[in-house]
Amino acid sequence: MDDLKGMAARTRLVHAGRHPHDNHGVVNPPVYHASTILQPSLAVWEASRKPDFPGYRYGRAGTPTSRSFEEAVADLYGAADAVAVSSGLAAIACALMAVLRAGDHLLVSDSAYFPTRKFCDQMLARYGVETTYYDPRLGGRIADLLRPNTRAVFTEAPGSLTFEMQDIPAIAAAAHAHGAVVLTDNTWGTALHFDALGKGVDIVVEAVTKYICGHSDVMMGLIASTAEHAGAVRDMVRLHGNCSGPDDLYLAQRGLRTMGVRLKQNEANGLALATWLEGRPEVSKVLHPGLPSHPDHALWQRDFSGASGLFSFVLRPVPRAALAAFLDGLKLYGMGASWGGFESLILPGDPKALRTATTWDEPGQLLRIHAGLEDVDDLIADLEAGLERLTAAAKAAA
Ligand SMILES: *Cc1c(COP(=O)(O)O)cnc(C)c1O
Repeated sequence: MDDLKGMAARTRLVHAGRHPHDNHGVVNPPVYHASTILQPSLAVWEASRKPDFPGYRYGRAGTPTSRSFEEAVADLYGAADAVAVSSGLAAIACALMAVLRAGDHLLVSDSAYFPTRKFCDQMLARYGVETTYYDPRLGGRIADLLRPNTRAVFTEAPGSLTFEMQDIPAIAAAAHAHGAVVLTDNTWGTALHFDALGKGVDIVVEAVTKYICGHSDVMMGLIASTAEHAGAVRDMVRLHGNCSGPDDLYLAQRGLRTMGVRLKQNEANGLALATWLEGRPEVSKVLHPGLPSHPDHALWQRDFSGASGLFSFVLRPVPRAALAAFLDGLKLYGMGASWGGFESLILPGDPKALRTATTWDEPGQLLRIHAGLEDVDDLIADLEAGLERLTAAAKAAA
């Protein structure tokens, strides 16, 4: 919508992609359940087969429901185009396949979301694309790893388990000087906190499943691209036959409208929990780029305008029974994959098993927390009771 130009992201989030007066004044876009879409005449049918047809041709290729969500997301990212796909992982897969072909070399951050690595190692390798993992903190020294056939550099900042930041502008400058495409997984930052395309990224992916949806009830991903890559990305999504269902698209656009206020609360609760954990004797390290103690705090301050509610911390070594006493008695933190919903979560992680370019030497257990929207004092009290159980169980085992 042109009349939103120059307005803040939190304003555009509320208004972009909605056209109430095209739909009887109804505030939210209608949910079109569609496979077949009829054309009124032979002439329009023929026009509808052309790539530049402005209307709708088939459910998989887009409906007013998908287009409205995609318009909002493209506006938020300042992208030439955005496309919704069936999951965050599908967004990663389609974005990588849109730029890579057999014989190409790909650089991927060692801290990347683990299924991204699996896709590179098990899928891309089969089609003749070689992946090298790199130290997420190497910044402009990525130039040393670029080969004549390096076609793309994949980033994720911060890493969603270990929270290293990446100097994306420096990486992008080196990659672009070499003619390589820069991709980023911006699920943690979202369009509100990290202006990926403005910082040199060409193609940004985000798991809509997390903060945009925000209610732990939808699987979806998005790919937003600069004009140079938009066509290749949309073609690849089409070739995969990937699309999202109308009810999920509706929930995603509804989640988008409130993401601004939700994220503020996730951020505040996450920072409060991280700060509190940093003062606890049971904890050896807190991994949250928003903390001044984080080694990449300055980079986060330079490039990001906020944090989400996801961070990790490392316990001092304790017997497994003590870890179980801590986790099993928590009342407010669910133990389950994913994040970005209204509720708090906690999950053990094992970075050592997941990396190849860097090492992970923390002796204690890593735990990843998603700070939900609960009252922060209740969240802290639940953790405090848990750490007391942990200490009691560790003493009993000693
Ligand atoms: C969850 C997640 C994904 C994948 O999203 P799905 O919708 O679960 O496929 C990708 N990247 C990051 C950082 C994630 O946390």
